Amino acid sequence: MKKSDRKSMNQDRRPAQRDVDIPDRLPLIPVRDIVVFPYMVLPLFVGRDMSIKAIEAALAGNRLVLLAAQKAHDTESPKPDDIFDTGTVGMIMRMLKLPDERIKILVQGLTKAKIVDYVQSEPFYSVHVHTFPASQEPPSSLETEAVIRTAKEGLDRLASLGKVLMPDVMVVIENLDEPGRLADIIVSNLGLKVEPTQEILEIEDPVARLKRATEILSKEIDVLSMQQKIQADAKGEIDKTQREYLLREQLKAIQKELGELDDRAEEVEEFRKRIEESNMPEKVVKEAEKQLKRLEKMHPDTAEAATVRTYLEWMVEIPWSKASPDNLDIQSAQQVLNEDHYDLEKVKERILEYLAVRKLKEKLKGPILCFVGPPGVGKTSLGKSIARALGREFVRISLGGVRDEAEIRGHRRTYVGALPGRMLQGIKQAGTNNPVFMLDEVDKVGMDFRGDPSAALLEVLDPEQNHAFTDHYLGVPFDLSHVMFITTANLIDPILSALRDRMEIIEIPGYTEEEKLGIARRYLIPRQLEKHGISEKHFRMTDPALQRIVTHYTREAGVRNLEREIANTMRKVARRVAEGKSKRYAITPRTLQKYLGVPKYLPETEKEKDQVGLTIGLAWTETGGETLHIEATTMKGKGNLTLTGHLGDVMKESAQAALSYVRSQAQALGIKQETFANTDIHIHVPAGAIPKDGPSAGITMATAIASSLANVPARHDVAMTGEITLRGRILPIGGLKEKILAAKRAAITTIILPKHNEKDLEELPKHLLKGVNIILAETVDQVYAAALHVPSRARTKPKTPKPSQPKRMPSNRTKRAAAPVKRARRAAASPFVLPQ
Ligand code: ADP
Repeated sequence: MKKSDRKSMNQDRRPAQRDVDIPDRLPLIPVRDIVVFPYMVLPLFVGRDMSIKAIEAALAGNRLVLLAAQKAHDTESPKPDDIFDTGTVGMIMRMLKLPDERIKILVQGLTKAKIVDYVQSEPFYSVHVHTFPASQEPPSSLETEAVIRTAKEGLDRLASLGKVLMPDVMVVIENLDEPGRLADIIVSNLGLKVEPTQEILEIEDPVARLKRATEILSKEIDVLSMQQKIQADAKGEIDKTQREYLLREQLKAIQKELGELDDRAEEVEEFRKRIEESNMPEKVVKEAEKQLKRLEKMHPDTAEAATVRTYLEWMVEIPWSKASPDNLDIQSAQQVLNEDHYDLEKVKERILEYLAVRKLKEKLKGPILCFVGPPGVGKTSLGKSIARALGREFVRISLGGVRDEAEIRGHRRTYVGALPGRMLQGIKQAGTNNPVFMLDEVDKVGMDFRGDPSAALLEVLDPEQNHAFTDHYLGVPFDLSHVMFITTANLIDPILSALRDRMEIIEIPGYTEEEKLGIARRYLIPRQLEKHGISEKHFRMTDPALQRIVTHYTREAGVRNLEREIANTMRKVARRVAEGKSKRYAITPRTLQKYLGVPKYLPETEKEKDQVGLTIGLAWTETGGETLHIEATTMKGKGNLTLTGHLGDVMKESAQAALSYVRSQAQALGIKQETFANTDIHIHVPAGAIPKDGPSAGITMATAIASSLANVPARHDVAMTGEITLRGRILPIGGLKEKILAAKRAAITTIILPKHNEKDLEELPKHLLKGVNIILAETVDQVYAAALHVPSRARTKPKTPKPSQPKRMPSNRTKRAAAPVKRARRAAASPFVLPQ
């Protein structure tokens, strides 16, 4: 007989003991592994021969059997000693023969009974029994009540500790107040071994039985809670290590649900791949991975995640170790430079020398090239050509107006919207770590309370330091030592001296008219034709037309506007060609106005005449050379000098010096000393809104003051430049070529230059001096002689005096120049009448 696979207790519908007559002799079925209690309904599988026979005998009669547990599970043919004496009388309610010759019966326990003796042992055991008294339940008492409650609570506790009990058992127990039955139910549901169960079965007194059952119950509770504690401890250990993992898994699941996970995992993976591919130095990889880990843990939509993402984007896009191979073939470099640029022979030569040294000495720690010149003279395009010749990438950033160190070096990431500085932006743009890097407008780097950008710039340009240039944003060093830096500036003077020391200055002055025509013919026109998709078949520009564009439509040192105006004419031709009016359009001076409108500039001298107190100076500005009108006027006053026109300190002092000189030489000019005490002098330099500075207008101001005080007109076709000393000597000036070009553009016929600049004249192209009369003056007297009219003589002399010879014979010239001064002295009594 086998243990049932299922058992149940049923309080209702039970054939109670009192309904059935129980004989004192019954067939015995030894039961393995289970103790059957009264009221229990359970199926039993019966396989042993003797048991089957016992069942058959019972079925033939009153269907009653005694079910007694056997002591040992594995005894196949138990002797009476192997079977417990106390058992339960059961009624066979149903019987089913199974195909394997076993029998399945459904029995219900009726009452407890004790075996008195064995009556027969073949073919099955038959025993005499003594049934327990029918009503065993005692009357309720406090103790009973307490024991019942304890038992019920114990059972609840057991359930709360996780013991699985049949649901209907709990319901039955809830309404039960018979201690004996309660004990039976509890014990039969605890899944105990046979012995303890049997022990309970054998206790006759119901309260005692329940007490014992409660003891067993509390032991069970202890075991179970101990078991739980052990489990919890063990789990705690695992939890510690797996908690985070599990949480993250859960988070992933949640994010997946929300549709966030895929993007992020993909993004992180992508970054990881790009970090690997970007071949970063080890230190940089570490930083990148640190940030990547942070990103992994962040919600992808937070602002911080966006910041980290931007940072990583930068990190992977910087060309840490990507370089383009160098092609240092000097001949091909020369070819490229010639292909792209007209003339500029000296500049090209310097560049080629520089490249040659670089070729011989791989890591050239030498100076950095600095192209200085007005806009549009080809500084940028020279840089591009160098890059093309070397096979390197070209990038260009402008430093104009940079006042903050962070613009060079980047902002720290703690700032909202922080980005790397211009250096690394340029490097990223280049895509290689060895581009030709052009820093435009180094002369316009400023300095203020936000920090000194020049310090950062010095570090960038210093070959000893720039191999570990650290950008504040990236926070890791980048090696700039492979970069070839070229700087550009419009003027030399404003460049910070620390920077200037590190650079090799190559000056590119403005172009003469002839040069401009050459550049236009050979470079600008072919380039624009190609850009506009038309050819010489459609477009022809005559030389006079081109010349007229230079003189009447542009006024510049470079060729940028010239190129723009050429493009303008071509656009109009291109439109007509596109409209189907395909023919050859010839641009001549006559048709030019149709294309470009009325001329923008007229030569100034055409408009002006000689005036008292108006002289023409020559200035060197960042856009090239310019003529500078200086007006001086006198009025009654107290000897004050007023200076207007946005003049800088140097220029103001220069004006003071000029006035002091004129005063010291007053007698020679026929000016009375007291005049200075009761006359106010006002010097104004239009255009008043443009700041002007520098000492080179010294002689121009002196001449204007002299003209005004002596009341003699100054020549409108004479321009001059030179610094003045208190003793009337003239010091040399810079920007000679620019100034001469400016004078020629303004149709000046005579230019007065300091004698000390004579040697610089030698270096200028010959055609530049064509058509102008150059006077090299050593003293201001010579300037007066050339620039001021003597009215009394004016009648006898031509209005525009014959230009003096371009001079290399100072003695002659001095003599000639002295003549008008003498004349002035002679005329002092009458024509040089001062306004009183
Ligand atoms: P910059 O940088 O000095 O302001 P750019 O390099 O931008 O001047 O030059 C303006 C334009 O003039 C460019 O298209 C350039 O190619 C052209 N250009 C300037 N000088 C020359 C030259 N000597 N030969 C050919 N083209 C020139």
